[in-house]
Amino acid sequence: MHSIAIVGFGGIGNWHANNIMEMDETGLAGVYDINPKRTELAASKGIAVYPDYEALLADASIDTVIVATPNNFHKSLSIQALQAGKNVICEKPVMMNAKELQEVLAVAKEAGKLFAPHQNRRWDRDFNIVKNVLDSGVIGKPFYIESRVQGAKGIPGDWRCVKEAGGGMLYDWGVHLIDQIMWYVDSPVTEVYTHMLSVKFEDVDDNFKLMLRFENGLSALIEVDTYTFINLPRWHVSCTEGTMVVDNWDCDGRIVKAKTVEFNWEEGIVYTAAGPTKTMAPRPKESIEELPLPEVSVDCKDYYRNFARAAQGVEELIVQPWQALRVMKVIDAAFESGQKGGCVKCHI
Ligand code: NAD
Repeated sequence: MHSIAIVGFGGIGNWHANNIMEMDETGLAGVYDINPKRTELAASKGIAVYPDYEALLADASIDTVIVATPNNFHKSLSIQALQAGKNVICEKPVMMNAKELQEVLAVAKEAGKLFAPHQNRRWDRDFNIVKNVLDSGVIGKPFYIESRVQGAKGIPGDWRCVKEAGGGMLYDWGVHLIDQIMWYVDSPVTEVYTHMLSVKFEDVDDNFKLMLRFENGLSALIEVDTYTFINLPRWHVSCTEGTMVVDNWDCDGRIVKAKTVEFNWEEGIVYTAAGPTKTMAPRPKESIEELPLPEVSVDCKDYYRNFARAAQGVEELIVQPWQALRVMKVIDAAFESGQKGGCVKCHI
């Protein structure tokens, strides 16, 4: 059984603990948190508590440490764990920038230990529905993907509002959405443009739109918005032979496919609800068909199973450190674009 300990027993630390205790392949050695209220909560659930981080790292029974603290502590806690001979699963954003990640990866290499970011949203159902449809080729090749998440409550009033702690939405949700798109698109990112706002919180971004252009011609819009009361679809994907929409987290949505890519244009102008227009007149009904979204089954616990098997040397990591480095480089470029304005040309 793969033995795991957690540093930072907050919202996500608690979630990790529940997952680890539910699986046969993993066991929870214990947790450490600087806040005694959190360790009291852990103890009340029958979880072992370490008095400090050094005690946790000194426990020879632990294979892997999960770093689940606010973002600005990820680097030092990860390095300490690697140097103590532990594998590390680090919460996202794995570091504050690409340079920090390169330093940590060098330590992991020297220690001969695994280091992987927790990009659990690769196992999200909505994302896997999109990936399934695109991989099947049923609506041809994608040329433009919109991926967005929207809330109406602003940012929780915790460290997520504080710049030095790694607050803001590019680090928080942005990293998940960028990771999903970059994992799917097998091509370098060549342009990054960010439109960044601080609508309710001066210190950090709480609303951004990020345009990525890939070398293979695909473009993607990634949008995170914390203050919208009417949501746009979670996914809107334009392909050469159709369009797919996933409306929400329940994965309602549909595919509209061109039955015949070619069709006969009307003679002369067409009178439509939009007035006289030939371009925006609806397609002939017989030239399109509607399909349901496919069913997919996913299990986010496969993340831990894969990590444990990779630590035994019997499987490749699904979330690779070099992939995290590409994502961090895009985040660096996104901040540069958002702060200076204009598009950042790159080859990431
Ligand atoms: P949180 O504030 O709920 O919990 C953080 C915990 O870390 C707190 O209990 C705090 O006391 C503790 N802590 C702070 N500094 C510490 C230190 N130096 N040593 C030990 N403990 C320390 O925050 P959260 O929502 O659980 O987020 C934590 C991390 O998890 C962040 O990096 C966040 O981005 C990430 N996260 C990931 C997901 C995901 O889906 N992968 C979801 C939520 C949060």
